[in-house]
Amino acid sequence: MKEQIKGDTKVTAIVAAAGRGRRMPGEVPKQFRLLAGKPVLWHTLHRLSEVSRIARILVVGNEQDSELHDSVVGYGGLGKVDEMVVGGRERRDSVLAGLRHTDPSEQIILVHDGVRPRFSRELADRVIDAAVDEGAAVAAVPAVDTVKIGRAGLVVETPDRESVWQAQTPQAFRRGLVLRAFEMAPSISATDESSLVERAGHPVRLVEGEYDNVKITTEQDLKQMQWRYEVEGGSGGGTFRVGQGYDVHQLVEGRKLILAGLVIPHTSGLLGHSDADVLIHAVIDALLGAAGMGDIGRLFPDSDPAYKDISSLSLLRQVAERLAAAGASIINVDAVVMAQSPVLKNHISEMESTLAKHLAIASDRVSVKATTTERLGFVGREEGIAAQAVASIVL
Ligand code: MG
Repeated sequence: MKEQIKGDTKVTAIVAAAGRGRRMPGEVPKQFRLLAGKPVLWHTLHRLSEVSRIARILVVGNEQDSELHDSVVGYGGLGKVDEMVVGGRERRDSVLAGLRHTDPSEQIILVHDGVRPRFSRELADRVIDAAVDEGAAVAAVPAVDTVKIGRAGLVVETPDRESVWQAQTPQAFRRGLVLRAFEMAPSISATDESSLVERAGHPVRLVEGEYDNVKITTEQDLKQMQWRYEVEGGSGGGTFRVGQGYDVHQLVEGRKLILAGLVIPHTSGLLGHSDADVLIHAVIDALLGAAGMGDIGRLFPDSDPAYKDISSLSLLRQVAERLAAAGASIINVDAVVMAQSPVLKNHISEMESTLAKHLAIASDRVSVKATTTERLGFVGREEGIAAQAVASIVL
C-alpha cells in the first residue's frame, strides 16, 4: 500500500561529507576548503537551509572532522543543521548511518553531496515534489558528450545519447523505501542512492538537474567554482562591489587606545561616544558603502545612549550579519591606520585575525597596515589617529 505523504511534508536532508578526497590530494578535505571566504560545506548547507520544506539537516562526516564540522557551523546561518553523524568507510555506509539517525516521522529524506554547493532551491523543491509523488527521484542532466562503454581500452558499446543522463544530487526518497533498498543490497557499494532503489525494483523519477550543480572533485573544479562565487556570488547574478571608509578620532589622555578591538598600550587613547575604535569605524563604512547601506552614523547614531562606550567589535559583527542577511558575501577588506605613535606593527596580525573572526571570513581576506605621516599634519602632531579602509563584496 502506498504511504500517503502530503506535499508540504517536512523533509530531512542527509549531507554526505565524510569523503577524504582521494582524487584531490591536500591536507584539508575539499568540503572544508574555502569559497568566497567560507567553507564549501557551509555554502552547501546554507543553500539547503534556504529550502523551506527542509526542517533538519544531518551532516555525515568523518570522525576526525568533528572540529571542522563545528567550525563550519560557527560561520553562522545554519540553524537547521544538527549534530554531526559519524559516517563509515564508503559513501553507502555514511548515508546509511545518516538514515539510522532519522525516525519514521521523517517521511521524505533528501540526500545531497557536501561538495555540491551550487544548486537552486527550485531544483531541491522539484526533486522533493517528485519523491512525494513517486517515492524516489534523482536530479540528472542530459549527457552533452556521447558516452562510450569501454573494456580493456576498446569501445564495447555506445549508448544512444538521447537516453543517457548524468546523475547528480539532490536525490530524495520515501524513508521506508530507501531503507528497504539498502537492506536488500547489503554489499553493493553505491555511488548514488537512487541506483539501490532501482535495484530494489522501484521506479526512480528523473528530474532535470542543473549543469552548474558541479560536484567539486578536482582542484580545477574548486578553482572554477571559486571564480564563479567571486564574480557572481553564491546564487549567481550577484555583482562585484567596492566600498570605502574613512574615520578620524582625537587622541586624549585618560582613555584607552582601542584598535580592531584590541587594547594597545599607549599614553593616550581615542575620544568618542563608543570605544572610538577608528579602524573598525572605517571598515564598517567601507562595508556599508559597498552594500549601499548608508554609513555608521546612520545605523548607530551617537545620539543613541545604547551605543555609549559600546565595543565597536559588536557593531562590526552586526554589520556583517546585516550584509549576510542581504545575501552579500565579503571578498576582502584592506585597511590602513595612520598614527604617529605608538608603533603598531607587532599588533597587525592579531588585528587582522580579530576583524576576520567578527566578519566570519578567513583571516587571509583581511589586511591591516599602519603608517606614520612623517610628523606632518594632525596625525604627525599626535592630535589624532585616522584610518581608511576598502572592502569588496558580491551582492
Ligand atoms: Mg568613528
